[in-house]
Amino acid sequence: SMRTDNATYVERDLAHVWHPCTQMKDHEHVPLIPVRRGEGAWLEDFEGKRYLDAISSWWVNLFGHANPRINAAVRAQLESLEQVILAGCTHEPVIRLSEALAAAAPAGLTRCFYADNGSSAVEVAVKMSFHYWRNLSRPQKRRFITLSGSYHGETLGALAVGNVDLYKDIYKPLLMDVITVPSPDCYEREPGESWAEHSRRKFAHMETALERHAHETAAVILEPLVQCAGGMRMYDPVYLQLLRAACDRHEVLLIADEIAVGFGRTGTLFACEQAGISPDLMCLSKGLTAGYLPLSAVLASEPIYAAFYDEYLKLNAFLHSHSFTGNPLACSAALACLEIFRSDDVINRNRVLSARLGERARTLQDHPHVAEVRQHGMIVAAELVRDKATRTPYPWQERRGLRLYRHAIERGVLLRPVGNVVYFMPPYVVTPEEIDLMVEVAREGIELATCD
Ligand code: PMP
Repeated sequence: SMRTDNATYVERDLAHVWHPCTQMKDHEHVPLIPVRRGEGAWLEDFEGKRYLDAISSWWVNLFGHANPRINAAVRAQLESLEQVILAGCTHEPVIRLSEALAAAAPAGLTRCFYADNGSSAVEVAVKMSFHYWRNLSRPQKRRFITLSGSYHGETLGALAVGNVDLYKDIYKPLLMDVITVPSPDCYEREPGESWAEHSRRKFAHMETALERHAHETAAVILEPLVQCAGGMRMYDPVYLQLLRAACDRHEVLLIADEIAVGFGRTGTLFACEQAGISPDLMCLSKGLTAGYLPLSAVLASEPIYAAFYDEYLKLNAFLHSHSFTGNPLACSAALACLEIFRSDDVINRNRVLSARLGERARTLQDHPHVAEVRQHGMIVAAELVRDKATRTPYPWQERRGLRLYRHAIERGVLLRPVGNVVYFMPPYVVTPEEIDLMVEVAREGIELATCD
C-alpha cells in the first residue's frame, strides 16, 4: 500500500518534476514541502504540519486558499462552460469581467485583451505598443525604456524589458536591446532625503532618456511603486506623475505592469491610483483571479484600440492569441475576487492590517544587520546587510536568505526572501496574530542568517 508521509511525495516528485526557478540539486539538502491542502492563509503538508503562507504563494493569493466563495463561483461555472475559443466566440464571464475591469481601472482603460500569465501579458503590451506606432506610420518607434532593477517576467520579450541580472544575464544574446534608466529605488536616497524628493531627483535620468530616445521609443514600461522581484524596491507616486506628463510630452506610451502590485497590494486597488494617473496599457495577473487560476489581462486605452481598428486587408489587426485566452473558469474566479473586494470593503479593511504589519515589521529595523524596513501597503520588506553603517550587502554567494527560509519553514511560516531582502506579502485574510507570528519568525531567521 502507498505510504502517505511527506518523504514519499518528495521522492516521487524529485524523480520527475523539474521545479521553477530552482537549482534542483539544492533539493539534496533543502526540503521540498509537499502540500496536501490549503485553508485561509495556511498550507498543510502530508503529515499535518501547517505553514503560514506569508508570501501569498508567489504573490497571487488574496483571500486565502480554498476560499468558499471563490470555490463556489468556479464550481458553478464548471457546470456550464469550462473553456471556449475566444476568437469568434464569447461568453458571459469574460464579458462581465471586462465590464468590471474597465469600471475599476484608472480612467480611460476601456479595452481588455486577455492572456494566461503575467509574462504573456507583458509580451502583449510590448507587441501592442510597438504595433500601435507602426499602425500610425511611425515604425521607427520600436524601442523600450525600462528601469534598473525591474522585473516583468521570464519569456524573451518580458526578460528583455526586465533588469534583474540573475534571471537575464545568461539569455542576453537572445534578447532585444532596451534603454535602461536608473531606478527611483528609495533605498538609495541620501540621508534626510524624503521618498518624494529622491524619486523626483531620479526622474532626471528618465527625462534625459526620453529627450534622447523618444523618436525611436514605443513605450516606457515599469512596475508602479514597488519593484518586487528586484528586491521589493520602492518609490514615491510622484515619479509616476512626472512620467505620465513626460510620456505625453514626448509621445511615448506608458505601460504599467501591475501584475504584482495590482489588486490592493500597495493599499489602493491599483498602484497607479496613488499618483492619480492612467497608463496607456496596464498589465494584470496574479491577484486578478485571487490567485486561483492562470489568467492575465492587458487593459488598453481607446486610442490604442482605435489604431488597430481597420479594414482586414490593411493588416493592422493585433493577431496575437493564446489557446486559453479569457478562460471562463479563470474569469469566474476573477469576478468572485472583485465581488469580495466590493462586498467586504477590502481596501479599507486592509488599512488596519497593513498598519499592524508595518508597525510590527519596523521593530526589525533595530537589528544590526537590517539596513531598512520599507512599506507600501500590504508589502513590507527588510533589507539585510553585512555592514549597516556602510550598507555593504552580503555577497549573494552566501545565500543568507536561504538560511532564513529554512528556519521559517521549520517554524511553520513560508517566507521566501529575494536575495538579501526578506519580505511579507500575506493574503488579506491574515489575522493580526498571524502577522505577529510571521514577523517573530522572520526576526529569529534574521538572527540565524546574520550571526556569523
Ligand atoms: N511582472 C511582474 C511585476 C511580476 O512580479 C511577475 C511575476 N513575478 C511577472 C510580470 C510575470 O508573471 P508570470 O510569473 O505570471 O509570468
